[in-house]
Amino acid sequence: MSTAVTAALDLLPLPEFHTLSQDQVRGATCVWDGVGLSSATAIDLGERKLKRVGGRVSWFPRACRRCALEQAMNTLVAHSQTCEQCVDDSNLCPTGSGLVRAVREARR
Ligand SMILES: [Zn+2]
Ligand SMILES: [Zn+2]
Repeated sequence: MSTAVTAALDLLPLPEFHTLSQDQVRGATCVWDGVGLSSATAIDLGERKLKRVGGRVSWFPRACRRCALEQAMNTLVAHSQTCEQCVDDSNLCPTGSGLVRAVREARR
């Protein structure tokens, strides 16, 4: 997966951390619907930081293809409705064009 796609997947909003199971936190199951993942089916959502007492903790959520596609499309629609740059030309907006690539990547 290219870095541009990974950067866009970093933008996808995740469920509240405290609602997730241990398996979802360690990337064994989809962070959205809890479906079991293998390295062949999982989509990496990038490193996330968690604010904890005493510092920040990194975690690496993963998702199934179906959820990643759905979330990427929802985020793209929401972004393009509020971004002036995307109304003008989404190719010039790193967020907009990144999300378009993320949707394409998840659709494969
Ligand atoms: Zn899922
Ligand atoms: Zn934009």
